[in-house]
Amino acid sequence: MSQKQLPGPLVDTFGRTARDLRISVTDRCNFRCVYCMPEEGIQFLPRDEILSYEEIARLARLFVEDLGIESIRLTGGEPTVRRDLPTLVSMLAALRTPAGAPVEISLTTNGSSLARHAGLLRDAGLTRVNVSLDSLRADRFLAITRRDALADVLAGIDAAVVAGLDPVKVNVVAVRHKNEDEIVDFAVFGRERGVQIRFIEYMPLDADGTWTLEQVVSADEIVDTIGSIFPLEEVAHGAEPATRWRYSDGAGEIGVIPSVTKPFCGDCDRVRMTAEGQFLTCLFAVDDLDLRHPLRHGASDADIGDLIKDAVFGKWSGHRIGRVDFVRPTRSMSQIGG
Ligand code: SF4
Repeated sequence: MSQKQLPGPLVDTFGRTARDLRISVTDRCNFRCVYCMPEEGIQFLPRDEILSYEEIARLARLFVEDLGIESIRLTGGEPTVRRDLPTLVSMLAALRTPAGAPVEISLTTNGSSLARHAGLLRDAGLTRVNVSLDSLRADRFLAITRRDALADVLAGIDAAVVAGLDPVKVNVVAVRHKNEDEIVDFAVFGRERGVQIRFIEYMPLDADGTWTLEQVVSADEIVDTIGSIFPLEEVAHGAEPATRWRYSDGAGEIGVIPSVTKPFCGDCDRVRMTAEGQFLTCLFAVDDLDLRHPLRHGASDADIGDLIKDAVFGKWSGHRIGRVDFVRPTRSMSQIGG
């Protein structure tokens, strides 16, 4: 029985249904994070190879109206470096599921220009935001990102809260001997600023391929470190990648994404599209489906929809980090999008 005979949503052979689409709108970024991009940057894609907003909106409408996608996250590179991003957000915010429900639109950003964009993006229909921030120390921030922009990012986080984006989450990639001594500082930061800290286990997606298991600070270690100072209670877990913990004193919550030590691929509901229109069924996918060619060569929505359904039907069980058969994706994080 092929996927075409299955009704509706994007189901794979493991019975998982894709409902969340990550769309990278650019491979360009104004930062040069050491684990993501070499100092000199990478060979960025030529303008005409990047999908236009109209092309992204057409594919997004197909995903939402015909293929069961209920939430869209915009990523990069750094999405805010692409001009007129609120225009795209408003095009996507106008979409409705077959049941007439609005689509949740979120954004992953390095926050450096959020102070300027937060209100405009919220007015365009953005609902929530994740800001990537790996250190609260200006010198260390500079060492990690190769940019002296910590103050801009902190101002961006505050602006997102003021603009009413909710929740505002701060993504922290915890790396041994790099920033694990700031775990409690980040917890305090989140409690004081009313934002949710999301600690992410370090994954082998670094541009220079130097990732090792020893560098991974485990989810358990992070929870124990914080819990020893601020008692925590676990929150029931849904399909979202993070395990969530609320503070017993009511001062908010944290999340931990245990991609390496406790993979959650069995509940995965995510698929991705790169800035040049390549469809990925997994963050670690080693093959992809080109949507740009059929899109620009007269294919109907139904034809493109069938290609996507078949790709998801063949989705593998999950990443194989730490296993002998693990294969690093050829793309770095800036070319996939979070
Ligand atoms: S590694 Fe792939 S399958 Fe596993 S949760 Fe992430 S995207 Fe889903």
